[in-house]
Amino acid sequence: MKKGILIHFGELSTKGKNRDDFIEALARNVHHALAGFSTEIKRDHDHIRVYMDEVPEEAISRLLEVSGIARLSVFYECPKEMEEIRATALLAYKEDGGKTFKVETARSDKSFPLDSYAVSRDVGGYILRNVPESSVDVHEPETRIRIILARPAAYVYARTIRAAGGYPLGTLGKALMLLSGGIDSPVASYALLKRGIALEGIHFAAPPYTSEEAVNKVKDLLEVLTRYQRTIKLHVVNFTKLQLAIYKEAGDPYAITIMRRMMLRIAEKMARKRGCLALASGESIGQVASQTLQSMVAINAVTSYPIIRPLAAIDKNETIEIARKIGTYEISIRPFEDCCTIFTPRHPVTRPKIAICEEIEAKIAYEEMIEECVKEATTILVGGEED
Ligand code: ATP
Ligand code: MG
Repeated sequence: MKKGILIHFGELSTKGKNRDDFIEALARNVHHALAGFSTEIKRDHDHIRVYMDEVPEEAISRLLEVSGIARLSVFYECPKEMEEIRATALLAYKEDGGKTFKVETARSDKSFPLDSYAVSRDVGGYILRNVPESSVDVHEPETRIRIILARPAAYVYARTIRAAGGYPLGTLGKALMLLSGGIDSPVASYALLKRGIALEGIHFAAPPYTSEEAVNKVKDLLEVLTRYQRTIKLHVVNFTKLQLAIYKEAGDPYAITIMRRMMLRIAEKMARKRGCLALASGESIGQVASQTLQSMVAINAVTSYPIIRPLAAIDKNETIEIARKIGTYEISIRPFEDCCTIFTPRHPVTRPKIAICEEIEAKIAYEEMIEECVKEATTILVGGEED
């Protein structure tokens, strides 16, 4: 008898060609998530089956992080003979540990002599006879034993765990994530990756005011995230010239606002160039001066690109908790300055006016500098070879 993990896709309205792409992408991501384990992965229209000699909890917890999986079950494969099916169902029942149970059978192989109702009844009777304390509850059973009578074999499972949901990474398109090296942006990245949105990163550096270590920090953060996306491209933009120009013209209160507007202009251009459908950031409303709603309005005004802010309404404590859980926190708190902290004004405006921004920007020949930033950006591939 073979065993392994059965992957359920859930109630996704993926049909036809989409569905095939979806399953193919998911199978690839599952394969990557289980690197280091000896597995054989098979897929059909309804499931992905991961065959393993034993099913370690570590394999399950890795798959719980893979987007596009609705549920996971520990399954057994046996020949389509009633005797085998009964024994396997009993094993799965005992493993799940519930007392009350219900057997549900799906017969996709119509040549099987018994119909699904007869199979469920037969197996239910067998369990009742063999486990004196068991009883049937058809409405809210503690354990649901499922039997799939497929063409090649029967698949039997009971223990089922709810998984991440979402869509397989890559099937929802790609966003360009603004990565500072702080605590928030990696957590925001994680949220998008778990939903199934693939990422490229953009980081603004201001050498020599910022050190190489600041870039390394972002690289290290992305390295952690390659657990969810095998390779991540990071575009490092040299922002120094533009930033100095901003500080010359903007004056203290508006410097951050203008800087953010420039970052977004550059990010949008980079996103278009790279085929990213949205920008994303670690901003959280009200966290700092540049993240008030009024600030967001003034900053956002330079682009019509969608900006996804997964942490918009998330409390910092909760963000820190997630950062610790996924292993980015310790890297994020390394002391290297990013370009914002170095040029942080003492009295940033909290209600910036777009008209004033435009007035200041009229004094900066920024178009050319922006083009140069995009053109001269260096791209680092984090996580090794591309697929
Ligand atoms: P984080 O912890 O992500 O740095 P933060 O709380 O420090 O966020 P800010 O420094 O105001 O907040 O930055 C808000 C967002 O702007 C960041 O989450 C990031 O998406 C983006 N950002 C800030 N600085 C940079 C940078 N140097 N390069 C790229 N993106 C940046
Ligand atoms: Mg920051």
